Amino acid sequence: MIERLVDPEVNEPIDETIDTSLRPKDFANYIGQERLKKNLQLTIAAAKKRNEPIDHVLLYGPPGLGKTTMASVIANEMGAQIRITSGPAIERAGDLASLLTNLQDGDILFIDEIHRLNRTVEEVLYSAMEDFKLDIMLGKGPSSRSLRLDLPKFTIIGATTRTGALAAPLRDRFGMIHRLEFYTPEQIAEIVHRSADILDVEIVPEAAAIISTRARLTPRIANRILKRLRDYADVNGKGMIDEKIAADAMALLEIDELGLDPGDRLLLSAIIENYDGGPVGVDTLAALIADERSTIEDFYEPYLLQIGLIERTPRGRKVTPKAYKHLGKKHNM
Ligand code: ADP
Repeated sequence: MIERLVDPEVNEPIDETIDTSLRPKDFANYIGQERLKKNLQLTIAAAKKRNEPIDHVLLYGPPGLGKTTMASVIANEMGAQIRITSGPAIERAGDLASLLTNLQDGDILFIDEIHRLNRTVEEVLYSAMEDFKLDIMLGKGPSSRSLRLDLPKFTIIGATTRTGALAAPLRDRFGMIHRLEFYTPEQIAEIVHRSADILDVEIVPEAAAIISTRARLTPRIANRILKRLRDYADVNGKGMIDEKIAADAMALLEIDELGLDPGDRLLLSAIIENYDGGPVGVDTLAALIADERSTIEDFYEPYLLQIGLIERTPRGRKVTPKAYKHLGKKHNM
């Protein structure tokens, strides 16, 4: 598979140390998501006053918007330890049991992609989240018996790209459910300047402005583009990212002025050329562009909807006149 620069799901192991340093550690450095921060600050202050852990929190929104980062900020602000795992990594009820029994009072367990937990694991999680008890079955058949263990008072922070994919009983066990919003271009520019400071690279405001409108309003993509521009500036310039370097590098990366990459343009063109602009069902679309349905739903769509290039209708996805105009295509109607 080709690594897409704007794909927020691709991790870059080489840059991992840098990435850790770019991750804000407290509310003061976490840019944007003001409503979420206000809510959490209040909850954390109250929990600290009562000397209790905070309620379970569910964060949802497209990848790269700062869910994992927010979980570690919460842990840091609570003075709590955080353990990080993910839905697909917890394969059996026993895996969950060992994770939970190794926690201490006040610990936070972050479960990324929590919608991908399997049913049996999910059922064990219900009573663990609700009463801090763990029900385990010993043996099989008529001689089996169940055992109830007390668990420490922990907090689950779950992250998902879609709340709709989460079973209702699981969703109901979260005291707080928050959606992360796309960032404004101004906030993305602020993140770019902050990251540039940490990476010790000079960037002019005009170049940061170029990134701010081409990073899908997503911090992870903004940071990734910034690193590519730094490489480009080191090779083709004097190390400073100026407006020309930023514009030239974007052209090389094939990211257009709305932040679309060839994959987005392929998707939009497919709807226009094969379905006269839509509506077209998401499964048909997935087959047409040879991509996964979940990639379309979690990655392409949220941003294309946000900037008004597609619309969701009961009969499927439709492109808007703005998309025709952006791609320079004629509308037949
Ligand atoms: P998610 O868990 O939603 O996929 P992450 O929390 O991993 O996203 O965020 C991706 C990267 O973007 C982080 O490593 C961090 O450097 C950066 N980032 C995310 N949110 C912010 C923010 N609010 N302010 C500054 N940087 C951020």
